[in-house]
Amino acid sequence: MGTKSREVIYGSRLRGLVMDAASAREEAIAAVRRGDRAEAEAWSLRMEGFGGPAQPSPTLGQCLNGGLAWLEVECMRCKTRAGLSLVYIRRPRDTPTWKLEASLRCRACATPRRRAPARIIKLTAEREIPQRPWDGADPDEV
Ligand SMILES: [Zn+2]
Repeated sequence: MGTKSREVIYGSRLRGLVMDAASAREEAIAAVRRGDRAEAEAWSLRMEGFGGPAQPSPTLGQCLNGGLAWLEVECMRCKTRAGLSLVYIRRPRDTPTWKLEASLRCRACATPRRRAPARIIKLTAEREIPQRPWDGADPDEV
């Protein structure tokens, strides 16, 4: 049996299996993404529609992987709303999204001594409202 017959016997089966493995992995990645999207949308809807509970929530990484990369928040005092990009929030990607709420502070109605807390409204795929005047509202800067 020479090289040619090995190719005949094994070659096409091998190539087929390599392709099957690659497409199965792509499907798995897409399935995880759909799961992350659905979980993030469900949490967002619960927050917007029922006001919570905020826990448990998807992680920052799950929201981003699911394509919901914007967090809409509202100041509890002046009711200013803002869209924050989850991409630029400097927290580990496995941080539960609800944990951000505690460190959100409004700069629109800030005084030197006090900045009002904010609450999470919902997640969105695109920025739906301007980021200003919340440009500096990154939780890590509070
Ligand atoms: Zn405010």
